[in-house]
Amino acid sequence: LYLLPLTPNVWQEHDLNPFTSPPTHHTARYKELLASRKELPIYARMDDFFTVFHENQIVILAGEAGSGKTTQIPQFVAYSDLAHSRGKMIACTQPRRIAATSSAQRVAEEMDVELGHQVGYSIRFENKTTQGTFLKYMTDGMLLREAMNDPNLRKYSTIILDEVHERTLATDMLMGLLKSVAKRRAELKIIVMSATISAHKFQKYFSLGSDTEVPPVFKVPGRTHPVEIVYTQDLMKEPEHYVDAAIRTVVAIHRAEHPGDILLFLTGEEEIEMACSKIRHKVKCLIDLYPSSVGPIVCTPLYSSLEPIQQQRAFDPAPPARGPNHPPGRKVVVATNIAETSLTIDGIVYVVDPGFSKQKMYNPRTRGESLLVQPISKASAQQRAGRTGRTQPGKCFRLYTEEYFMSLEEQTCPEILRSNLSGMVLQLVKLGIQVKDLARFDYVDTPTPETLMRGIESLTFLKALDEDENLTPLGSMIGEFPLDPQLASLLVASPQFKCSEEILTITSMLSVPRIWVRPVDQKKEADQAKALFTVRGSDHLTLLNVYNQYVQNKSVEDWPETNFVSGRALVEAEKVRAQLQQLMGRFELELISITDKNKSYQSGGGYVTVKENHFAKLHPSYGGPELPEWVLFNEFIITGRSFLRTVSAVSPEWLLEIAPSYFNLRTFPDGKTRRALENLIEQKTAGSSNNFRSLYTMEDAVA
Ligand code: ADP
Ligand code: MG
Repeated sequence: LYLLPLTPNVWQEHDLNPFTSPPTHHTARYKELLASRKELPIYARMDDFFTVFHENQIVILAGEAGSGKTTQIPQFVAYSDLAHSRGKMIACTQPRRIAATSSAQRVAEEMDVELGHQVGYSIRFENKTTQGTFLKYMTDGMLLREAMNDPNLRKYSTIILDEVHERTLATDMLMGLLKSVAKRRAELKIIVMSATISAHKFQKYFSLGSDTEVPPVFKVPGRTHPVEIVYTQDLMKEPEHYVDAAIRTVVAIHRAEHPGDILLFLTGEEEIEMACSKIRHKVKCLIDLYPSSVGPIVCTPLYSSLEPIQQQRAFDPAPPARGPNHPPGRKVVVATNIAETSLTIDGIVYVVDPGFSKQKMYNPRTRGESLLVQPISKASAQQRAGRTGRTQPGKCFRLYTEEYFMSLEEQTCPEILRSNLSGMVLQLVKLGIQVKDLARFDYVDTPTPETLMRGIESLTFLKALDEDENLTPLGSMIGEFPLDPQLASLLVASPQFKCSEEILTITSMLSVPRIWVRPVDQKKEADQAKALFTVRGSDHLTLLNVYNQYVQNKSVEDWPETNFVSGRALVEAEKVRAQLQQLMGRFELELISITDKNKSYQSGGGYVTVKENHFAKLHPSYGGPELPEWVLFNEFIITGRSFLRTVSAVSPEWLLEIAPSYFNLRTFPDGKTRRALENLIEQKTAGSSNNFRSLYTMEDAVA
């Protein structure tokens, strides 16, 4: 049954699931989802797709966002190509991690299988696949890494490059790579999926020479309903006020427009969280004023570093009306560019587009790479507007004038033209391309010679390339780390400086989203908390300090929350650290710490009281340059968080000496303090000429 050559349509309707072994019956949820999948524009073109797919090695697939490309095409391929029956896999790449994880999760549900089994994902520092996985969603960067060890990508029978119009560096490199793999592996199928009109550019690029080898462009129709574009009359005088303007627009839509969900585009996490809380607050005030005419809202953020469960909330339906004859509820999703094409949220009727996004910029002269808020391109603005009108007529509010729109760049500049290329150069060299041939590599858009030069130069500085521009063993090792070459080189060099343990932590902390949490209504408290972690003169040591304290205080409930750090980012840092550590092990890079193993890391302001185990930090007024391991204090202040005020450093020996009955270890409650004191006594008794032992015995006698 596993191998029966039935057509995919037959399989989908079948009672039995062909992908489980032994086959299981399809669940009710499967049937429910199948019904909604059939509504997607791509579904109507399934048979046509099969024809094109069978007749061509490379297919360019162009379709509006939301037509079902990402979730359906890999499934069509799975049913048609039955890769699993031949021990092969299907890869579907995504420029964004969140799109890879979210799509894999959705598709596993649609196929009625468990995520991580038949359908899985692979993103940097996280691999959710097993032996039996045959459909793998992955970031473009991950497939590129796999190519370094298997240049022909033999595991895959079909490779789907999704969202190629995003033109990320990794996707551009993959296109160049796959173009040559296609020539070497005639049986490999490649599908290049793009959301916009740029399909013809890719068609031209993938033409392998003769006219007969021009890949077809398979088009999928998109939305069918009109979208009204509303421009502002005046250009905003102070563009930095776009967030406030956006919030006002959202609230105005909620008050005055017909039912339907709202999608607002902002540029980053902090901005989005702030906007969400302001919108919630403003709507709450409105409801208090006009309880019968203003409906409830849920306002959900959506950005990459959000936890999967929270990401999924953006897909939840709008809240119901508060009662009969009350206005219906509305969902407001405040998202980064991620909602532009990567993720489709159903039910969006209103789009609010302030016209900005965060973009990476690189200046080869200064070697500076930065993430800046920039005006979007015309193509982006059109994509944003296209997020509505999919199921009913929609409206897009552009917070700029029509003249301004006309002045925007046509397309967003590809990343290869605005990034530091040292990572790319290293990967290409690892793939066997000679440095002298780099300029002639088959790029979709060729980077400027100056940027390429800078990339080569910085690899030479790092000794990843030798004087003749050949890859060195060190360079090869650096390239194995999923890190920027500079950071990887730092890690690889750290054992020589006897601090690899610390560098490993710092590198991991630099590889995860923001550690600091700074809620709008608790800025002061958050800053105070941060000050307590701060190691003067070094943000890196501050990060190290946060991590070490996090590890030490794992058993303390709500430790991240009370200290205004992101628990999720720390968990992630821990995972990253474990993976990097494993890689270091593979290259026999030793883990050496600058501190004595037995000594606990110097505390950065987190303390527990000796017997009650109450957690507290030193009050910001504490003036010492260093944070002592043990302190005595005069005041224990609780103001939402706990502080020790008026403190002095003490040595633990003094405690045993001066207050023996209080520090009687026989009756001392178990905990950190007890263990620390026990260690201390053990150390002291080991050194015989010490009178400490007698002290202890004396106190024993007293007890
Ligand atoms: P495209 O790739 O063409 O933009 P997708 O395949 O991503 O389209 O999305 C098709 C539909 O699948 C969406 O309209 C949405 O209804 C549904 N969908 C996709 N991902 C999810 C998800 N994580 N949760 C719920 N629904 C989803
Ligand atoms: Mg998609």
